[in-house]
Amino acid sequence: MRTSPQADPTVSKGSEIVGRRWAAIVLMFVASLAGAQRPLVITDVTVISVDGDPRSTADQTIVVRDGRIESVGPSDTVKRPRRAQTIDGSELFAIAGLTDAHVHIKRSRSDLDRLLPLFLAHGVTTVINLDGGSSVLRLRDEIDRGERLGPKVVTSGPIIRGHEGMTAEDGRTVALDQIEAGYDLIKVYNGIPGPAYLSIIQAARERDVPVIGHAVRSVGLDGVIEAGQHLAHMEEVVYGYFTWPQRSSRPADLPNEIGPRLDALLDSELIAPLAERVAEAKLFVTPNLTAYHNIVLQLEDLDRSLARPEVALMPASMTRFWQRDRNDYLSRPNLPRFLAGVSRTFPFLQELTKAFDAAGVALLAGTDVGIPVIVAGTSQHDELEELVTAGISPGSALAAATTAPAAFLGRSDSGRIEAGMVADLVLLRANPLVDITKTRAIEAVVVRGRAFERNDLDDLVRFD
Ligand SMILES: [Zn+2]
Repeated sequence: MRTSPQADPTVSKGSEIVGRRWAAIVLMFVASLAGAQRPLVITDVTVISVDGDPRSTADQTIVVRDGRIESVGPSDTVKRPRRAQTIDGSELFAIAGLTDAHVHIKRSRSDLDRLLPLFLAHGVTTVINLDGGSSVLRLRDEIDRGERLGPKVVTSGPIIRGHEGMTAEDGRTVALDQIEAGYDLIKVYNGIPGPAYLSIIQAARERDVPVIGHAVRSVGLDGVIEAGQHLAHMEEVVYGYFTWPQRSSRPADLPNEIGPRLDALLDSELIAPLAERVAEAKLFVTPNLTAYHNIVLQLEDLDRSLARPEVALMPASMTRFWQRDRNDYLSRPNLPRFLAGVSRTFPFLQELTKAFDAAGVALLAGTDVGIPVIVAGTSQHDELEELVTAGISPGSALAAATTAPAAFLGRSDSGRIEAGMVADLVLLRANPLVDITKTRAIEAVVVRGRAFERNDLDDLVRFD
C-alpha cells in the first residue's frame, strides 16, 4: 500500500498522517475495484425528501447494494441483508448527496488531491465543472470507473468566449467538436456574436446537450430566454437585462462602470414579470450568491475573508491568487466605486432569487469554486444559507442542491432517496428543514454506496 502514496509527488514528503490518509483512501478504492461491495444498511433514520412538498419521514431503513439504493421504507418492514455494514441512523437525518452546480476544477493533480476530498468531506457528491478540458474528461471517466475517489464530475467543454468575426459556421463547428469530444454541456460567455450564438444553440439542441453560461451580450437576456439557455450566475440577469446597454442606453454593463445610475436601473418593479418569463422558458438558474457576496466581503475586508479557517484547506497554488497583491477583485480601478456597485447589486440578486423561486424557476446551488476566497465543499453550505437568507425555504434550497441538478442533467436516477437511485447520501445530526445550517452537521457521507463515517471524513481532509 506504500507504493501508491510514494508515486504521488504531493505526498512524497512522507508525513506520517498524509501517508495514513492515503493508505486509507487507497484501501477503500481498491476494495471498490474488487467489485462487490459489502451491502450497507442505515437503520431507523429520518429521511428528508424535497421532491414536491418537503417532508421528513422517521424510522426508515435504507439498504444500499452495489452503489445503488436497493430499498427504503419503515424499519420494521425492510428486509436487511446479512453481513451488511450497519450505521445506526436513529439520531440522524438523511439527505441526498449535494451537487455544486458551478465549479472550476481544471486543475493540476496535486490541486485535485485537495479539492476532491474537500467536496466529499462536505457532502458534495457531484460537481458540475463549467470550463472543461481533456484533463477534466479523463478525471470524470476515472472517477466513473472507480479508479479515483471523488465526487461525480459532469463537465462543460472549454468556455466558448466568442470574438468579433466569429461566424455562424464557427459557432456550429465549435459546439459539435465539443459534443463529439464527449463534454456533457456547453458553456457560453459574453462575447459571442448573435449568429454564432444561435448556431451553437441549434447544434446543441440537435444533440440534446444543455447550454449554460452568461447572458451573451449580443442577444441579451431576451435572446437567452428565447434560446432556452441556462444561467450560471444570477448577476447575468442584471447584465443581460437590467443594465444591458441596448435596453438601458448605457454604454457599459458592469455595476462599477455604471456608477450612480445603477440605482435607477435596478428596478424591482420589473422583477416579477421577468421571473414569470424565465419560469415559462424552463431555464435553470444558478444564483451563485455566495460567490457574489464574497466579492463584497473581500473588498470590505480581505483579511477577514482570508482568516476563515477553511481557507487553509485550499491548495496554495489557488490561495496565492486570493492575496492582496494578486487578487483580481482588488486590482480593479476605482475600488470604492466598485464596492459601492457590488454592494448595491447584491441585495438585488437576493430579491431576484426569491422572486424566481416564487415563480417556479428551478434554481441550482452553485458556488464558483476556483474564484478568490471560495472554498471547495464548505461553500456549498454557505450557498444553502445564502439561498435561505434571500427568502427561499430550506426545502427549496435543498432541492437546488439535489433534485434540481439531477433534473438539469437528465439524471433521473439521482438526487433522491428512493429505491433504484444512485446511493449518494449525507447523514446529518439535525434536521436541515428546520435549520438549513444543519447541513454542516455531517455524521457520514455515502459515495456511490461507500460509507465514510465522521473519522474517515476528517482523515480525508487532514492535509498537513
Ligand atoms: Zn465560473
